[in-house]
Amino acid sequence: MLETGSRRTGSKPAVTKPGTGAASQTWGAGHAAQLKILQLQKTLGNRAVTQLLRAQQSAQSTPPIQRVIAYDPSSSKEEEKKYPTTWLRMRNLDSKPMRKTAKGTFQMAVSELQDMGITGIDEEKLQEIWGKVAKANKTFNILDEPKAVVKEMAKRYVRSMKSKAGFAKRSGETSKMLKHLRRKNKKFIFKNSPQNPMMVMEDDDLAKFSYDKNTSKEAQIQKQLSTVLLHSLPEGVEAQAALSKDKGGVVMSTNINAENRKIDDDLGLERRDDILDLAADVLESHHLESTSRENAMKDHVMRHALKLYDRLKLYLDDDAIVSVPADVDVKFDGRHAEIRIQQGGVWNEFDYHLPTGTKYQCMGCRLYFHEEGLDTGNRMGGLWVTNSALSTQMVPQLEKGIKIGGLGDEVDSVALLLATQYEKMMAAQQVEMGRGKTKGGEYTFDRQADSESELDEADYKRIQEDIKKRKLRKKVKGNGGGGKPHAHNH
Ligand SMILES: [Zn+2]
Repeated sequence: MLETGSRRTGSKPAVTKPGTGAASQTWGAGHAAQLKILQLQKTLGNRAVTQLLRAQQSAQSTPPIQRVIAYDPSSSKEEEKKYPTTWLRMRNLDSKPMRKTAKGTFQMAVSELQDMGITGIDEEKLQEIWGKVAKANKTFNILDEPKAVVKEMAKRYVRSMKSKAGFAKRSGETSKMLKHLRRKNKKFIFKNSPQNPMMVMEDDDLAKFSYDKNTSKEAQIQKQLSTVLLHSLPEGVEAQAALSKDKGGVVMSTNINAENRKIDDDLGLERRDDILDLAADVLESHHLESTSRENAMKDHVMRHALKLYDRLKLYLDDDAIVSVPADVDVKFDGRHAEIRIQQGGVWNEFDYHLPTGTKYQCMGCRLYFHEEGLDTGNRMGGLWVTNSALSTQMVPQLEKGIKIGGLGDEVDSVALLLATQYEKMMAAQQVEMGRGKTKGGEYTFDRQADSESELDEADYKRIQEDIKKRKLRKKVKGNGGGGKPHAHNH
């Protein structure tokens, strides 16, 4: 809060920086209060003043609600020592000098933005930002260093205006893009969430997916493998896998080139036993040895790693090879994992199982697979209105470097394509949009419905022993300086 004398002096020119007429007019009061602090520091010393202020602060039983603090140390009234978080409360402050100081700081922020060439400043927005700065996890002293508050306010204002403009552009275009689809199904709604704009349904209209008991054994293994892979690549968003029917290999992918490269480079997955090793690593890092079976079964990462560890050998031969699809062009990076697998050069529908992963296919992917004549089932997640999720519906646009928000005249062709694909798919097969039920009983887009099956006590004990022995072996190997050429990084 209070700084040393030299830094205070250093920040002083900012206080007297000429702003608009209003700013320089009202600034006098703040300056007077600052002089009071200076006087107090002269008599008591800077450290003593700081300690005094800290003591006063900690004496309060309730935590302070605002962080933009300016002290008028000569006042005995608590409210004269702190500036409130909302502009309205600020305007209703009893202390006239403090009101003036705050107004002056506010005007300085306006001038700062004007100096940056920003016109038509939305004062209401700036007032809202005042509150946000005041609540931020940083302490400002508007008597001492108003410039710091002003800079922070200006920075946040610019950022908020930029994202508002970008979002308005994207959101305007995405609702146009979904226009025809929503005519096909009145239940579709456009959800305007900033990170992931999507087309979805009201919660009540979404299907509630329980575990599908007809899921093939291969699809189960692929899901478990995807869980373990995604867990080991924390930057990844989704992972999918597809086993070859002859047990000779598996193709696995995430949505991102950089993450796919890590599958070999960092995780060292080349052969079947590398996958088993990764599963064992995950179990070890989750403290399998000291975890009860009941608790392990509640944790879906552990549950999937256990089942994968237990059963993978039934679906892959010991010399089975791990393949990762080639990088996609940077314009298409983000493209969903199952499409990368399907298009990646290794996979084909005759020799491989259909890819499955941790999540149900999003609607963009489900439509694509239907177009390709591949039946990936009657369940799908929402339609994410992103370049990644719609990468197959927007090939000509993305090729040209045109993205959502800048589609312009091409919006309607994408919109029509989506609606046509949807109509064709639904005529052939009723695919439902919904969320999966977790073991805990919640419904989520984040993963497919959890199965109810569990490992029995005997199998669990056996795997626990296995992991324990493996740990010992690793120790012995480590001491001998041996080991595998590629180490797992955990
Ligand atoms: Zn998808």
